[in-house]
Amino acid sequence: MLIARTLPDLRAACAHLRRTAGSLALVPTMGALHLGHRTLVRAALASGAATVASIFVNPLQFGPTEDLSRYPRDEAGDLAALQAEGCALAWLPDGATMYPAGDATTISVDGPADGWEGTIRPGHFRGVATVCAKLFGQVRPDRAYFGEKDWQQLQVVRRMATDLLLPLDIVGIETVREPDGLAMSSRNRFLSPTERQTAAGLIGVLRATAASVAARRDAAEPLAHARRTLADQGFAVDYLALVDGPSLMETGRSGPGVRLIAAATLGSVRLLDNIPAG
Ligand code: AMP
Repeated sequence: MLIARTLPDLRAACAHLRRTAGSLALVPTMGALHLGHRTLVRAALASGAATVASIFVNPLQFGPTEDLSRYPRDEAGDLAALQAEGCALAWLPDGATMYPAGDATTISVDGPADGWEGTIRPGHFRGVATVCAKLFGQVRPDRAYFGEKDWQQLQVVRRMATDLLLPLDIVGIETVREPDGLAMSSRNRFLSPTERQTAAGLIGVLRATAASVAARRDAAEPLAHARRTLADQGFAVDYLALVDGPSLMETGRSGPGVRLIAAATLGSVRLLDNIPAG
């Protein structure tokens, strides 16, 4: 596996891979890789493309009260995982490469970026869209792979790629879960053993709620019940709602393309999850 840490090295490696493999796939990550990330790499490889994985903990997507320094980092473990999966190139830029001195340009996103995570984490999706635009420009992949786990992020990146006429496909990959259903996340390691047990309750409530809203015209009661159940289990619920999948507009009822999305905090860990509700 090639490893690039500077733009000239990245460009040379990408040119070489494009020549030899024909097409390039990109898997953007913030590292601390788990099976969810590895599944994105596997899907990218299965497309026949040479696969580039980037590891960059992007300061622009962290808010002033969010602790960037606490984000888990494990470069040696990540490189070993990417190599084991058959990744062709790991791209590990530093902050000065991604944000040149005096930088004054960001990507502003509305539409699917409004509401939900966009409200709770102001500026978050501006940071995500900006770093993705930079990664796409650096690697120039034919396809980029994102997890459905971060549903709103996936829609924001899709919208941006469409609106900026970027010549790549955005591919969404189904959420990879622990055996008890908890969506895998780099932040799960911060759950205490008791919180870890409780955490699996989130997907349980989502599944039960998706089943009960399927049969009704008005989902207000099952949604309220779900919020109460989560609160009783010890979650601080930020939101739990039925939304149109691509636009993230609240629908208030199930239907084709509708997602049930939720964010809830346990202890110091914010958990995100979503499932189809149509
Ligand atoms: P992150 O390193 O958390 O920024 O995630 C990098 C990519 O991996 C994003 O596209 C995430 O949506 C995706 N991802 C994270 N966790 C999972 C999971 N459990 N299943 C599928 N994809 C995931």
